[in-house]
Amino acid sequence: MGKGNKALFWHSSWLNGSSPKNLAPQLFQKARRKNITVQKALHGNRWIDLVCPLMTGEEIREYVDLWEVIQLQERDVNADDEITWRWTPNGEYTTRSAYRIQFIGRTKTSLFHPIWKAKTEPKCRFFAWLLLQKKILTSDNLTKRGWPQDTLCKLCNSEPETPTHLCKDCIFTRASWDKLISWLGVEILPPSTASNTLMGWWKKCRVRFHKHNKPFFDGIIIYFWWNIWKERNRRTFNHISKSAEEVAFLAKEDVQQFNLTFFLLPTLVSCCLVCCSQILSVFLVRRVVGRSTTVYFSSLSLRCPLLFCWGLFALLFFFLV
Ligand SMILES: [Zn+2]
Repeated sequence: MGKGNKALFWHSSWLNGSSPKNLAPQLFQKARRKNITVQKALHGNRWIDLVCPLMTGEEIREYVDLWEVIQLQERDVNADDEITWRWTPNGEYTTRSAYRIQFIGRTKTSLFHPIWKAKTEPKCRFFAWLLLQKKILTSDNLTKRGWPQDTLCKLCNSEPETPTHLCKDCIFTRASWDKLISWLGVEILPPSTASNTLMGWWKKCRVRFHKHNKPFFDGIIIYFWWNIWKERNRRTFNHISKSAEEVAFLAKEDVQQFNLTFFLLPTLVSCCLVCCSQILSVFLVRRVVGRSTTVYFSSLSLRCPLLFCWGLFALLFFFLV
């Protein structure tokens, strides 16, 4: 800031990067001559006359704060004002800095990263993401949106329905969860009462697993939450109820079907393809070269032990499954 002959008193960011318009919004609203320059406004403290009389406590507070900031502001009264770009250290504009300021104030979502790596279907991962932010449409959230309805939990009919209660604290949910983890042979986990929040309980459960197994556990708990939510909707809209054990069974089926579809079947198919290609190559070579199948297969297996192991593994896997 130089003389203040170019900068506008209210609009320019000449007070440590801020403008008086933002520092004292109520004073700005009532100020006369809003486009006065800094030089003219500070001459004889004319800006004070332009905002007086002060009528409310908030205006007085803003006036005192603004007055203090103006007194502390250093100015070179012998130099002209300079316009600088405040987003770079040297004050020069760059497209890089302009691009970066678009992301100032964004919310980091690293907290929810494990959800996106969970071994579940995308729709269930998205549901869990909403659930952990308490955004699913339980009775409390519906009431906030102006859709009042029965506030009691549909699963126990005794407590208010909230995302945390529905998926962690409800007696029905706890019974169903205990059944599911016993069926799946999951090691002892902390009870749902170990944390007041769904996120806290989920984290306390996750730390019990090796990092390679965390996505599988996340898949189990997300499928469980998904089935609890479906049971809640079944009772609300279809008036059909399932027992805690039946809900746990449905969640277990979802987990097993996902693992079968996305892990076991591709492995089985690839093993069978390797096995079939070996057998086909044996018969082709026998027809072309004229050697016996047994001799060729034994010589092939000696020269390519890896291929032989693959075939053996595929056969074993095929019969075991
Ligand atoms: Zn309940």
